[in-house]
Parts: sequence; C-alpha cells; structure tokens
Amino acid sequence: MMFRPRSIRLRLTVWYAAALAAIVIAFALGVYLFVRASLLREMDAQLERDLATVTRVLREEPFEINELAQHGSVEFFQVSQGNVVVAETPGWSREVLEKALAEVPEGPARSWRSHAGQSFRIRNAVLQLPGQPRVVVAENEQTLRTSLESIAVILLVGSPLAVLVAVLGGYLLAGRVLIPIETMTARAGAITAERLSERLPVENSDDEFGRLALMLNGTFARLEDSFERLRRFSADASHELRTPLTALRSVGEVGLQRELDAAGCREVIASMLEESDRLTRLVDSLLTLSRGDVGALSVVRERVELAQVAADVVEIIGVLAEEKGQTIELRAEKGLCAVVNPEMLRQALINVLDNAVKYSPPRGRIEVRVRRTERGEAALEVQDQGPGIAREHRELIFDRFYRADPGRSREMGGAGLGLAISRQAVELNGGRIELESEEGRGCRFSILLPIT
Ligand code: ADP
Repeated sequence: MMFRPRSIRLRLTVWYAAALAAIVIAFALGVYLFVRASLLREMDAQLERDLATVTRVLREEPFEINELAQHGSVEFFQVSQGNVVVAETPGWSREVLEKALAEVPEGPARSWRSHAGQSFRIRNAVLQLPGQPRVVVAENEQTLRTSLESIAVILLVGSPLAVLVAVLGGYLLAGRVLIPIETMTARAGAITAERLSERLPVENSDDEFGRLALMLNGTFARLEDSFERLRRFSADASHELRTPLTALRSVGEVGLQRELDAAGCREVIASMLEESDRLTRLVDSLLTLSRGDVGALSVVRERVELAQVAADVVEIIGVLAEEKGQTIELRAEKGLCAVVNPEMLRQALINVLDNAVKYSPPRGRIEVRVRRTERGEAALEVQDQGPGIAREHRELIFDRFYRADPGRSREMGGAGLGLAISRQAVELNGGRIELESEEGRGCRFSILLPIT
C-alpha cells in the first residue's frame, strides 16, 4: 500500500523532500562529473604538451633526448624503438610504469592504476619519424584523484545535510502557511445553527485561503439568511394559526356560557365555521407554499392558451367583483401560449385578481390584459384603481406573511400569503412577476412568461 500521510503539512514536506533530494542528487552528480571531466581535460592537455615537447626534441635534436629525460620539464616519459629503450626519465622505472605499456594501447590518453595503487594518466603514441619511435608520456594522477575524492566527500556529506536543513525549513514553512486553515477549522467548528452569524477570519482576500474563507463566509451568510427566514416563517405561521384558533375558542366559550335558542346556536356555529374556513384556507396556503419549496421537479407542465386561463380566472373572480359593483374588463390577444402547469398559473392569477377586487373601491374598474410584450414575452396584466402600494412596500409584498396594511388586509381575510404563492407558482413555471404602482393610483401586476 502506498504511504500517504494524513496531514497536508506532512504530505507537502514529503513531496518537497523527494523533489529536493532528486534535484540535489542530480546537481551533486553533475558537479562531480563536470569537475572530473575538466580536470582530466586539463591533464590530457598537459600530456599533449609533453608529447609535443618530446616529439620536437626527437625530430630536431635527437641527441638531446637523454638530456631532456634527465633534466627536462617532462616528468615521466619513455622513448623506445622496438624493444630498445632509447631514453626515459629517471622516475620512469622507479614508478613501475613500464607495466603500463602492456596495458595502455596506442591512442588517446587513458588512466592506469598500478598494483601498488598508484594512478597515472598515460598517453601512448607511435611517431611518424624515422624508426617509428614509440613515445609514452605519463602524469601522476594522484593529486587529481585526491581532489575528486574530497569533492565527492563534500557532496556526499553536504547534500543530505542540505536536504535535511531544507526539509526542516520546509516543514516549518508548511506549518506557517497552513495556520489560516487551522484557524478556519477551529472557527468553522464553532459555527452552529445557533451561531450562524460567526464568520471565518480572512487575512488576505487575494490569496487562495482568503478566497476560500470568503466563499465559505458567503455560504454561511446564505445559510443564516435561510435559517432566519425559516425562523420568521415558523413564527409568523404559528401566529397566524393562533388567531383563528383563539377566535374559534372564544366564540365557542361565549356560546356555551349563554342560554341560546336555535337561532342563537346557528349564529355561533356559523361564526365558528367562518373561523374554521379561514383556518383551512391558511393551512391550504401553507401546504401549497411548502410543496412549492420542495422544488420545481414535480411541476407537470403543458402548453396552455393564456387567453383561456385569463377568461377562466375572470369568470371565477367576476362573481366577487359583481358583489362590489366592480367591472372586470378582459382584453386578450388570442394564440399566445406558454408551457406551464395550468393549475399553478390559474392560482397565481386568481390571487392577483382577487387582491385587485379586495383592495379596489366599490364600482371600480379592473382591467385584465393578455399580450405580447416588447421583449417578446407573454404578459398577463392586472390593472386596478385601488390605493396602490407605497414604494417601501413594493419589494416586500411578495414575501410570506407580508402585509402592506396589516389591519386592513387581515380584515379582508388575508394572511399575506397570496402574492408569495403567486410568485412561487410563476417562478416554478419559468416566469416572473412584477409590480408597477404609484401610491393612490392603483397597481399593475404583470405575470411574465416565455412564449412557446
Ligand atoms: P393578503 O392575503 O393579505 O392580501 P397578499 O400576499 O395577497 O396577502 O398581499 C400582500 C399585501 O400586498 C396585502 O396585504 C396588501 O397590503 C398589498 N396588496 C396586494 N395587492 C394589492 C392591490 N391590488 N392594491 C393594493 N394593495 C395590495
């Protein structure tokens, strides 16, 4: 099984150490081979110079060759013809170099080591001179070998030491670099559902850790927002449910306390039924919303003619409008279709048109239009002549349980969920809902859908 350290710090250090060791080994080897090659090249050049000196004397003053051997500048050389040694330096036989002749062939310089352990660099050449003399020149390689050995020792001892120091440094550095992660881990551990307002520290927003912390902080902010909305929703829902339940209870209690005749009983029961109706509507709305929250996947869509949907809704709400003496005018372009869930779209439009009726004065005029917009979308518009909605409420009225005018809205039986349901239904069907309004001059709600 492969060795895989559990901590990033250790893993970084191992990788770093392996890479560094490979580089140092390659470097040390390179240095050693380079120094060795240049020292040998220098020695070979010296041998060539020695050979040239001997050759020049042999060619120009052959009788001086012994003089050169005894007192010349060339340390080791031997000149022979056949088996006869013509001249040799005094050190030649002492250093048992003659043995080298059998082992070093004619040609470029070669290293040779005697049985006694002495090293020489030897150049063996046959000259193109009368009698074809053989000249062998040699250089003691001992100093070169000692230098190379010293370099090798330095590199062998120094390289692991250098790697060790660098790895220790790397380990410390990796520890330092990873400190932000440690801090983030500790802080993230402290962030719970109850403490979602805590954030991770961001030391430098431009580096990788900083960006990670920023990204996680963004996620925490969204989570906090969702939790907050959920909390508010539960609180609002309980509050809304409590109101009709309390009303139901007090009507019942009052009814029980009094001696009632049949008509009185009927009145109490009717008022209890009214409250229970309200309760049912509220629970239905909550159910619709929570079903929508589960997601758009379950939405079954089909191609629907928008003018038809508008006509159906106008017919349903028309009854309520008539009770208030209002008129609903429908102007619909034929042939505009969208792929939506017809029930959801109908519900969305019902809520909007129902509001128009609820909040418009008696005998007002409401206009419903189905048209293609300039941007090529299909629009279902509801324009009323009600009080309009003030700027500060416009963004919020689509939120759950939001009422621009709580007293009035509750009086009309609303819980502030109608527009939230409309928006959810429209968005789950790929559209959006917009509001244009001027306070005191009515509202225009537009449901915008992609045309198909
Ligand atoms: P509700 O059930 O209370 O009517 P909605 O979500 O349908 O809840 O509407 C939210 C709020 O927006 C209402 O309480 C009301 O104050 C305001 N509103 C909605 N439609 C209109 C409208 N056509 N004219 C004026 N105010 C409106």
